[in-house]
Amino acid sequence: MDTFEQNLKQTKQKIHLAATKSGRNPDDIKLVAVTKNVPPQKIQEAVDKGINLLGENRVQEAATKVNIISGCVNWHLIGHLQTNKVKHAIEMFSMIQSLDSMKLALEIDRRAKKINKYVDVLVQINIGRETSKYGIDPDETEDFIKKVANCKNIRVQGLMAIAPFKENPEDVRPYFSMMYGIFSKIKKNDIPNVEMKYLSMGMTHDFQVAIEEGSNMVRIGTGLFGQRSKI
Ligand SMILES: *Cc1c(COP(=O)(O)O)cnc(C)c1O
Repeated sequence: MDTFEQNLKQTKQKIHLAATKSGRNPDDIKLVAVTKNVPPQKIQEAVDKGINLLGENRVQEAATKVNIISGCVNWHLIGHLQTNKVKHAIEMFSMIQSLDSMKLALEIDRRAKKINKYVDVLVQINIGRETSKYGIDPDETEDFIKKVANCKNIRVQGLMAIAPFKENPEDVRPYFSMMYGIFSKIKKNDIPNVEMKYLSMGMTHDFQVAIEEGSNMVRIGTGLFGQRSKI
């Protein structure tokens, strides 16, 4: 077994443990392999070993990889999207996890209409209200989603969040729990054209806690590919 296989095996074991610990089915947790700064040949190896969901932060970087990776994979955009890159992004990604403003929603909707496409998105919530992070204020989530629901070519599929960094992942549990609260409330309200299917939270450092608190999509980079080097 090479390093990637070992990492993948361990990651899956941890997902399994966290899911069963919280009474959930491990198969319901989606694993997004985050490939920022990972060279194409390493990504291809991962895909050959069963990874089917890839996450990239930047449109530009993804563009250099999407066409050379072969196999049955979907790409998700997990980083901030500038409106001038929307046209390119909606052709490349099967989901935009980082919808963080109405301006962006309107541009995605407009571009999607032009090519007759429905774009799946997650709404990014700035759960720690950090000035360094993008995302909708937790208190404004529902109002924001109701507005996005009017964009006919956008399909809201859930929420995404990056928790504040804490040395001890236990300290981020309250943020994940708050996210689950917002997610459940919106789900219960059954907003037309909105499906609360995915709660994307948890990264290498904190994904087990995230799953225990209700995440069903984790985004893992370092834990699978090792420490990132700049390319
Ligand atoms: C980089 C990144 C990840 C993965 O981070 P790791 O700590 O390497 O697992 C997940 N989500 C987002 C939005 C990221 O930018």
